[in-house]
Amino acid sequence: MKLLKREQVEKLSRFKCENFLTTSFYLDTDKSRLTRKEISLSAKNLIRNHLNRLEKLGLDKNVKESLKKDLEKISRLCSPNRAPFTFSGLAVFSCSGKNFWEIFELPDAPRNRVIFDLNPYVRPLSAIIDEHINGLILLLDRKKAEWFEFFMGEVEKIEEITSDVPGKIKEGGWEGYESKRIERHIDAQLQNFFKQVAQKTFSFYKNKKNEGLFLGMSDKYYSDFEPLVHPYIKERIKGRLKSYPGDSKEKVIRQAQELEKLIKEKEESRLVDNFITELERGGLAGSGLDNILERLNRGQVQTLMVTRYFSKPGKICSKCGFLYVNKEECPACKVKTEPLVDVIDEAVERAMESNCQVKHINPPSKLRRYGNIGALLRY
Ligand SMILES: [Zn+2]
Repeated sequence: MKLLKREQVEKLSRFKCENFLTTSFYLDTDKSRLTRKEISLSAKNLIRNHLNRLEKLGLDKNVKESLKKDLEKISRLCSPNRAPFTFSGLAVFSCSGKNFWEIFELPDAPRNRVIFDLNPYVRPLSAIIDEHINGLILLLDRKKAEWFEFFMGEVEKIEEITSDVPGKIKEGGWEGYESKRIERHIDAQLQNFFKQVAQKTFSFYKNKKNEGLFLGMSDKYYSDFEPLVHPYIKERIKGRLKSYPGDSKEKVIRQAQELEKLIKEKEESRLVDNFITELERGGLAGSGLDNILERLNRGQVQTLMVTRYFSKPGKICSKCGFLYVNKEECPACKVKTEPLVDVIDEAVERAMESNCQVKHINPPSKLRRYGNIGALLRY
């Protein structure tokens, strides 16, 4: 199924495998960067590595058998002749021992990984949801209001109402005085219709606390409508679409996706600028991979920003789990560190575990000049 709602993630995280373990499998299937062959190959390698790893884990026979079956099933799913990979990411959650099997199609590419744990590992799913502007779209003119739900780049119409406000009366058909009086009457009717629309929009926000609002209406109607909106809703207006009632769903989706992209780009560049300002004035910011890993080890990071798909090898202490760029021995535990194919991946993971905000910055950005990684610090 498509990843569309937070409720899907909540439901998934409630699954308990009791006497078994669950396999969570994430695969980057973004065909704008990877060929189908490359995707299948990285799936194959990922699965092979974890089959090997499984042999070394001191697990109960039944538990191990169930995990093995999970990986075999996933391997079949990702075989080159079967998987079309028509979406940017794939997530699979499986517990063969309990006949549990869920597939999610993701709108964004995750980092490749396999996790064996008691519960489905859902953090990357939440992170993807957080990266999108979710909420409502309202299209409005004098005749009609249409509401759409906007979620993970998808659009679904949820309600519409029509008004009986007459069209503008034509010049000349009426005597001056009469014409003015009718105009005023229409304005009052229009005002009432817009009020009704504003109230209805507010009612949709009972269950959508932090979500955004996109508006599609002409400038004229916008200036009539905006003052009627509750301040709570005003705060949620994220931008305006060039869509109007009656537009095709495809047009609304396209417009909403473009606006979302634009807003995200602005947010990212604001965040990076903020980081640079803090860094240059010697404030609560850190740069340099070495330094940032140390801050992460000590739990000082508040916001971690990484250029999307940036990766680098590193080291991890098997005893305390501290991350390093190239220390052969952990200074804290005095034990030999182990190599990591991608220390950035672990750093992102660590940050999410300790409730840091993680922001993937799309290249090109100014973050490149700072080694593709930066952090805002708690203290
Ligand atoms: Zn250590």
